[in-house]
Amino acid sequence: MYTIKDDLSATLQEIRDAGLWKAERELTSPQQAHITTTKAQAINFCANNYLGLADHPEVLAAASAALQEWGFGMASVRFICGTQELHTRLEASISDFLQMEETILYSSCFDANGGVFEVLFGEGDAIISDALNHASLIDGIRLSKAARYRYANADMDDLRAQLESAKGARRTVVVTDGVFSMDGYLAPLEQICDLAEEYGAMVLVDDSHAVGFVGDGGRGTPEACGVMDRVDLVTGTLGKALGGASGGYVSGPAEVVALLRQRSRPYLFSNAVAPVVAAGSLKAIEIARAADDGRAALRRNTLMFRELMTEAGFDLLPGTHPITPVMFPGDDGARQAAQIADTMLEHGVYVIAFSYPVVPQGQARIRVQLSAAHTEADVRACVAAFVAARDEVTGGE
Ligand SMILES: *Cc1c(COP(=O)(O)O)cnc(C)c1O
Repeated sequence: MYTIKDDLSATLQEIRDAGLWKAERELTSPQQAHITTTKAQAINFCANNYLGLADHPEVLAAASAALQEWGFGMASVRFICGTQELHTRLEASISDFLQMEETILYSSCFDANGGVFEVLFGEGDAIISDALNHASLIDGIRLSKAARYRYANADMDDLRAQLESAKGARRTVVVTDGVFSMDGYLAPLEQICDLAEEYGAMVLVDDSHAVGFVGDGGRGTPEACGVMDRVDLVTGTLGKALGGASGGYVSGPAEVVALLRQRSRPYLFSNAVAPVVAAGSLKAIEIARAADDGRAALRRNTLMFRELMTEAGFDLLPGTHPITPVMFPGDDGARQAAQIADTMLEHGVYVIAFSYPVVPQGQARIRVQLSAAHTEADVRACVAAFVAARDEVTGGE
C-alpha cells in the first residue's frame, strides 16, 4: 500500500546519500560574534550580522520598550487594522535612507520579491533576470505573466542580447541581486543602468546583502556603483545587516508603492510585521546610518582576513565584500571543504561549506562572512583554525 511516509523516507535518503542534507545546529546563545551551540563554543563566521546589530543593546532596548508600548502582535494585515505609527515610520525611514520616494514593508524580502512582479509586470511586459538571482526573485518572476528572459551572471553582452529580444514590450525591467551571495561579487550596476537606459528598461535591485554596509553611507550597491538616482526599484531585507530580525521591503516611485498596497498578495494576505520587530528595525537603521565606524571595522576585518588567508596559501575569490569565499576546487573539493568546516568547529570557529548544486560543480567553497563585531583576535583565530583544519584534513600535504 502506498504511504506518504515510505515514499518521503526514500526521498529523504536520496538527499542524505547525495551529501546534500542540511542539518540544523541549535544555538544556545543570542546571535552574536561569539555563540554557543549545544556542542561547542564558537566564533561565528556564517551569519549575515554584518554590522553586529543583531544583539546591539540599543536595538534590544528599542524592541523591549516597544513590547510594552505597542504590544506583541497586530493580529491583522496592514489594511484592516494592522498599521501602527511604527510601520509608517519604518517605511519612511527606509525611503529616506535609500533616497527612494516610498517604501512598502513585507514580512520578509522573500515576500517582497514574491509580491512585486505579478502586480507590476503582466502580459506584454518583459522581465530580464540575472541567472544567479536569489530564489525569491526567481519565484516572484514566475508568478508574473510577463515574458521572461535570463542572462548569464553579470554578462553585459548577454544582457544586451536579451534586451534586444525583449524589444517591443510595454514595460521591461532588468532584475539583479546587488551582491551575489555565493561569490560576494557586486552586480555591475553602472553598465546595467546604461544598457537599461539605452533600451528604455527599468532596473530592480535586490540589495539584501548590501544595505547598511556597502557604499560609503551604507546605502547599498547603487551607492557603491554611483547609480542611486538611476535604479528604479530596490527590494531588501531587515533580516541581515539591519538588525537581522525579519521583514522586507520594496522601495520605489510613490505610484508603484501605492499600487502594491492595493494589489500585492503577500502584503494583502499576510500579517503585519510585529511591533517589536518594527521598532528594533527602526533603531537598527538609525544606528546603521551613522555607523561609519562599524563600516570601517568591517572593511578592516575583511581586508585583514583576505591578507592573512592569502599569506597562508588559501585560494580566495577576489573582492572586497565581507562575503569571502575560500575555494576548494576540483573533484575532491566538496569533501575537503565539508571536512575542513567540520574540523574548524572543533577549533572554535563556525563556518559553512557549500558545494554543488548550490554552487557550480568543482567550485566548492567555505563562505566566510566577516562582521564589524569581530575583533582582530577573532579574525586571526579564524585563519589559525583554517590552517589547523587544513593540516588535519589533508595531512599537511
Ligand atoms: C536573504 C535574501 C533574501 C530573503 O530575505 P528574507 O527577508 O530573509 O526573506 C532575498 N533576496 C536576497 C538577495 C537575499 O540575500
